[in-house]
Amino acid sequence: MRPLVATIDLSAIRHNYLLAKACAPERLAFAVVKANAYGHGAREVVSALPEADGFIVACLEEAGEVRALHGKARVLLLQGCFEAKEYLMAAQLALDVVVQSREQAEALLGSTLNRPLNVWLKLDSGMHRLGFAAEELRAWHARLAAAEQVAELNLISHFACADQPEHPLNRIQLDCYRSLDDLAFDCRSLANSAAILTRPGAHMDWLRPGIMLYGASPFADRPAAELGLKPAMTLGGSLIAVREVPAGDSVGYGASWVAARPTRIGTISCGYADGYPRSAPAGTPVLVCGQRVPLVGRVSMDMLTVDLSAVPEAQVGSPVELWGAQLPVDEVAGACGTIGYELLSKVTARVPRRHRY
Ligand SMILES: *Cc1c(COP(=O)(O)O)cnc(C)c1O
Repeated sequence: MRPLVATIDLSAIRHNYLLAKACAPERLAFAVVKANAYGHGAREVVSALPEADGFIVACLEEAGEVRALHGKARVLLLQGCFEAKEYLMAAQLALDVVVQSREQAEALLGSTLNRPLNVWLKLDSGMHRLGFAAEELRAWHARLAAAEQVAELNLISHFACADQPEHPLNRIQLDCYRSLDDLAFDCRSLANSAAILTRPGAHMDWLRPGIMLYGASPFADRPAAELGLKPAMTLGGSLIAVREVPAGDSVGYGASWVAARPTRIGTISCGYADGYPRSAPAGTPVLVCGQRVPLVGRVSMDMLTVDLSAVPEAQVGSPVELWGAQLPVDEVAGACGTIGYELLSKVTARVPRRHRY
């Protein structure tokens, strides 16, 4: 077998879910498992959280997968239904659905369902991606509250800048949300991971922790460990080749990196077709034998190369960690100009996941 595996620590995910709930005692929490649980394997993550109050998915396919594992949990469909017949499927799967546009609201009112749905009216409180403006939402509240297709009528919105707690948009969005306090809703939900960790005033009834479940930080400047989170995914492998490269010789495609001195180069069986970003610059940290070494040369499709100068004992077969328990994914993401969310969710299907309970 190619020496590359994503080891998923499910007990870390349970720990992180309970930590999210401990931030907001008495509230309920949807575990966000969209995008294959941010790359961690939705089936295993859902199975590892039997005590979760609910789950959040981005599409019907994901919802079906979760419902098959969890007969009772609330399963919320984030972007809602895109065709009238999807409401029938949502009813069959007993989903909670977001209604984020006039088209969706009208299609819901036009459908005949075998059971009413829990509906989450989406407020566009300032992110301007989905949802109704506050006044529009009032009008839909009036129409949907009495509709036979609707069981619970709930309110949901989303922060654009919760990862920057001082950003003025947070206050504007919270004020917009609160301007609807006079409307009768069964449940309210606003907080993603960053807001769970920093804005108790936004906790409402249902939390929506995503990235924190997986042990990465929503903040650029606060490491996950400092927040009490445990990393869930370790992407690891081993060295598959080691060589000496003389000063002046280049390594990899485009000969973009040139050895300034004689350098021991290690080759690792992980590339951009595994989800490791091709944009990773020279110097991006990689762990070899538990020590940090810099990536050198371009990341290729199936391999990448590192400078082993700092680890003379490294040899073919030596253990490698691309990110995880000892090297925070957020640090690698920072070096690559992206965020942990992207690295985790882009680990491709080619990489075997090994789940630990
Ligand atoms: C993905 C998502 C979340 C989870 O966000 P994190 O930053 O990962 O905690 C919550 N709410 C909505 C609407 C989302 O799309």
